[in-house]
Amino acid sequence: MKKTFDVAIIGGGIIGCSIAYYLAKEKLDVAVFESQQIGGKATSAAAGMLGAHSECDDLNLFYPFARSSQLAYLHLQEELKEISGIDIGLTHGGIYKLAFSESDKMQLLPTISLPTVDWFDADKVRKSEPCITSNVMGAAYIRDDVHVLPLSVCKSFSKSAQMLGASVFEFTNVLDMHKKDSSYVIKTTKGSFDSNLVVVANGVWSSTFFQNLGLEQKLVPVKGECISVFNDGVPLKHTLFHDHNYIMPRKNGKLVIGATMIENDWNEAPTLGGVEQLIAKAKSILPTITDLRLDSYWAGLRPQTFDQRPFIGTHPEQDGILFATGHYRNGILLAPATGQMIRDLILQKEVRKDWVEAFKINRLKPVLSRR
Ligand SMILES: Cc1cc2nc3c(=O)[nH]c(=O)nc-3n(C[C@H](O)[C@H](O)[C@H](O)COP(=O)(O)OP(=O)(O)OC[C@H]3O[C@@H](n4cnc5c(N)ncnc54)[C@H](O)[C@@H]3O)c2cc1C
Repeated sequence: MKKTFDVAIIGGGIIGCSIAYYLAKEKLDVAVFESQQIGGKATSAAAGMLGAHSECDDLNLFYPFARSSQLAYLHLQEELKEISGIDIGLTHGGIYKLAFSESDKMQLLPTISLPTVDWFDADKVRKSEPCITSNVMGAAYIRDDVHVLPLSVCKSFSKSAQMLGASVFEFTNVLDMHKKDSSYVIKTTKGSFDSNLVVVANGVWSSTFFQNLGLEQKLVPVKGECISVFNDGVPLKHTLFHDHNYIMPRKNGKLVIGATMIENDWNEAPTLGGVEQLIAKAKSILPTITDLRLDSYWAGLRPQTFDQRPFIGTHPEQDGILFATGHYRNGILLAPATGQMIRDLILQKEVRKDWVEAFKINRLKPVLSRR
């Protein structure tokens, strides 16, 4: 078994696998260490929305990063299919971000101001989606916020990286890492490996390495539950989104209903209370949804940072350590841009300075104003 690499990536979720793909394309010798199976944690729990417009309120900084990632998917769809043979399930149709009140509409104004977004009044919304509740006031129609199948994207990144020479070690838990001469020894449940560089990309569990690396930062789990139902007769073409909740039509004829937001809960099992909440919200948007047959339910842990922006960048003091973690609600959306940013940092290519500053792990926490 090969034991020495240029770059060791801890975590085989969508973030670790995207990084592996972009580095393998540059002919770097890469290894991914995944404690369980590729994409088995938050990645496979995600709905797969690429919500550059619907999720990003900071239009100057976060939106351009997210948008670049969203656009990258348009090329990746073909590229990854050609290398791995896996279809990432990119589905067009876009999102209706719904308004039920004047205050909802006010909140949508910055989004509506973007050239890629239109405002539809209630009549227009209900003409195209007749099953939607008559309580709707209108919607921001975001045609570019399409969706993908998260596990397929992750597997296609992983398989493509392997086709380009990367090694992927599943069921290999990283226990520790320490510097020896100019490289790192990665201690795992399957023995030790050597690598010049290490990328910490193991989702909400990344915090376990922070303390040994001299960092005080933390990641907080935000548990999210989803259900899926067989769509026997609700003709839905667009994802319907309101107040962090959504109903998303998948190509396979199912609707995904998501997602709860439970902070600081490490338990990955869905609860009846969570499912009840999802059904109640979905019913308030699409009243006939309760007639549909239940397919499945699941949960996952979103990795949240203090400001809900990811940590992407180098260790502030220790050479050879990088971070790509804390992608919270948007890891599927941000995977391509994160992979590209880590690649560019490693190859010392130019990276937008405002992104380096915004995502560096030692950025300052906002000082709370005292009364
Ligand atoms: C219900 C729900 C819905 C979501 N919907 C969306 C959406 O529509 N769009 C979107 O963009 N995002 C969405 N997200 C967020 C998205 O899922 C996450 O941001 C993303 O999956 C994070 O990817 P990751 O690779 O960092 O983490 P993960 O997918 O959790 O991967 C981390 C991996 O590291 C492994 N690992 C942990 N510790 C170790 C170790 N010591 N050694 C080796 N391996 C280790 C784990 O087994 C895991 O596979 C959703 C999340 C949830 C929970």
